[in-house]
Amino acid sequence: MEKRDLMYEGKAKKVFSTDDEAICIVSYKDDATAFNGEKKGTIRGKGVINNKITNYLMKRLEKEAGIPTHLIEELSDTDTAVRKVSIVPLEVIVRNIIAGSLSKRVGIEEGVVLPRPVLEFCYKDDALGDPMVNDSHILALGWATEEELETIKDYALRVNSYLRDFFSSIGIDLVDFKLEFGRTPDGRIVLADEISPDTCRFWDSKTKKKLDKDRFRRDLGDAEGAYKEMLTRIFGA
Ligand code: UDP
Repeated sequence: MEKRDLMYEGKAKKVFSTDDEAICIVSYKDDATAFNGEKKGTIRGKGVINNKITNYLMKRLEKEAGIPTHLIEELSDTDTAVRKVSIVPLEVIVRNIIAGSLSKRVGIEEGVVLPRPVLEFCYKDDALGDPMVNDSHILALGWATEEELETIKDYALRVNSYLRDFFSSIGIDLVDFKLEFGRTPDGRIVLADEISPDTCRFWDSKTKKKLDKDRFRRDLGDAEGAYKEMLTRIFGA
């Protein structure tokens, strides 16, 4: 499997076409951005780590939680073959503990544990700053059908239950995370994009040390070390 043309370059990944119409190659970069691209930098080793963590978690979600994903196979340290899907233009956010934008929106301090998970949707549009939207926007604007939306909610909550337990077993609180879903050519919803310290908040269960992209966003220092620590914990599991 070889890369052909660059189809798309995002903030943290490049996507290439291949000789097979149905397959793309995702290439993870060390580039990091925050605040809708306003803050730019690099986290050394991030591309390799996010590639490996994403593939490990997607494989387990497929096998152990029955969640279909776009993953085909890891090709190298930074590159992975995935099924070509059309991305549903939503960021699906699941929260277990109050942090980040929710803390600001409701005026409750970070760290307060939610008695049940919170599900949020944002419309994926950088120019608009990914505004939060609800079910009726999604249906009225045709971003997903009723059936697709139900599937996305069901998968997102099942991913959360599975990952919360997995991370808890390695001493990590899964605070919140963002998922993206795609539609296969035959119209099925699959989990796409990535699941990594770029897209999840991970806190050490004991010390509450942040082991994710907040170290970069908030200039907390040693983002590289935090990403490495997550890789070691996950692969030691
Ligand atoms: N998130 C993401 N991409 C985004 C926005 C959020 O991966 O464009 C993740 C983020 O890492 C966190 C969760 O979604 O794990 C919730 O983020 P929040 O809404 O609190 O926004 P933030 O405070 O990161 O701006």
